[in-house]
Amino acid sequence: MARTKSKVVPLNIGGIERQHVLPYRCEVERSRRKTLALYVKHRTVIVRCPWQASRREVNEFIASNQQWIENRLLEEAQREREVLRIERGAKIFYRARELTIVFREGRKERVLVNGDQFIIQGHKLNPSKARILVEDYLIDKASEYIIPRAYGLARHLGVDRKIKEIKLRKTKSKWGHCTSQGILQYNWLIMLAPYSIIDYMITHEVCHLIHMDHSRRFWELVQSICPNYEHYVDWLKQHEHRFWF
Ligand SMILES: [Zn+2]
Repeated sequence: MARTKSKVVPLNIGGIERQHVLPYRCEVERSRRKTLALYVKHRTVIVRCPWQASRREVNEFIASNQQWIENRLLEEAQREREVLRIERGAKIFYRARELTIVFREGRKERVLVNGDQFIIQGHKLNPSKARILVEDYLIDKASEYIIPRAYGLARHLGVDRKIKEIKLRKTKSKWGHCTSQGILQYNWLIMLAPYSIIDYMITHEVCHLIHMDHSRRFWELVQSICPNYEHYVDWLKQHEHRFWF
C-alpha cells in the first residue's frame, strides 16, 4: 500500500465555504481496491482508492463528501472534549448524568455522589491521587454488583458450573470478554454507566457461556433476558468514549 505524504488541507476544498472550519490532514492510500472510500481518524482524512485513481478523481471525491467529513471532524472534536479527566471542577458522565467533580479535604478517603456533585474525598488530593480513589471505588462497586449478578444469571441459565473465574480489568477498548475456558472478564469502568447498561453487559458475557459467537441464536438468548438490548448497544456506542480515563 502506498501512502502519499500528508498535507494540511483547508476544509473549503471545492469552493464550499463553511462556518466551522477545522483544519485536517489528508492522506491517500492506494491499493488494489476498486472503489474510493473515506475515513476520519485523529483529524486526518484518509482516502482509500484504486492504484489508477487520478488526483482529480480523489479531489472530487473529497469535495463531494465535504459535509460528511466536516460532521465526522466535529464529532471527533466533541469526543476529545468529552474525555474524562479526574480533576477538580471537571465534568464526569456518571449513570447518564453530567456531574461536577469536587475534591474535598478529609482524612477518610472516599467517593460519594451528592446531587450533581461527584465528590472525591481525601487528604491533600491531587489529580493522580484522586484518580486512584476513583479507580478503587469503581473496582469495589464492580465486584459488589457484577460478580454476584453474573453468577446469578448463569445459575438461572444452568451454566454456572461453566464459570471458572470472573475477572475485573480495565482494558483499552473492551467492556467484556468470555473465553471458551469459562473466564468472564468485565471492564470495571462500566460502573460509570446506568445499571441497565451494566446488566446488558453482564448478560452479554454470560450468554457467551452458551453461544461462543455473535450468531442469531446468541442474540435471541440475550434478548430473552434483556429485551431492550439493541438500545443499550447503541447507547454504549454513543457514550462509551466518556468513560475511559
Ligand atoms: Zn460478545
